[in-house]
Amino acid sequence: MDLSSLETLNRVAYQALGDWWQDERRNWCAYCGIEMQRWCGKGTIPGRQATRDHVISKAHRGGRLTIPACRACNEAKGSKFVAEFLDSEYLKEKREGQNVHCWPIEALWAVAGISAIRTALSLSISTARIAPARQFKADHIQ
Ligand SMILES: [Zn+2]
Repeated sequence: MDLSSLETLNRVAYQALGDWWQDERRNWCAYCGIEMQRWCGKGTIPGRQATRDHVISKAHRGGRLTIPACRACNEAKGSKFVAEFLDSEYLKEKREGQNVHCWPIEALWAVAGISAIRTALSLSISTARIAPARQFKADHIQ
C-alpha cells in the first residue's frame, strides 16, 4: 500500500471536515444535535455538557480526531468503535425526529473514515521510527 496516497486522502478529507471548533458546529452535539453547555457549574445539565469525542477512542489507538459531543452521547459511545456506535439503538433513538443540528449520518461515517486514515498514518510513522524492519516488510506487501 502506498502510504503517500493516504496522506493526500487525509489532507483532502480533513479540509472537507473543516475546523468545527472554530465555527458554530461546536455548539451542538454532532451525534444527537442538542445544544450543549460549555460551563460545568451550578445549573448545568450534566448530559448537555460540551465535550470532544475521540472518534476512534484511545483504546483503539485513535484519539487524534475529535468532534463535538454532549456528555451523554460521549459516555454512551465510551470506547465503542465508531461504526458500532453509529449503528447502536442509543443513537437511533437519539436521532429520531432528526434534530437539525446533528451531523448527517453520512458525515459521521466520513469522519470515521478520516479518523481511521489518520490512525493508520500515525501507526505507520511510529512503526517507521520504532522498528524500521517492520516498515520495510510492510512496504513489500503492496
Ligand atoms: Zn449528544
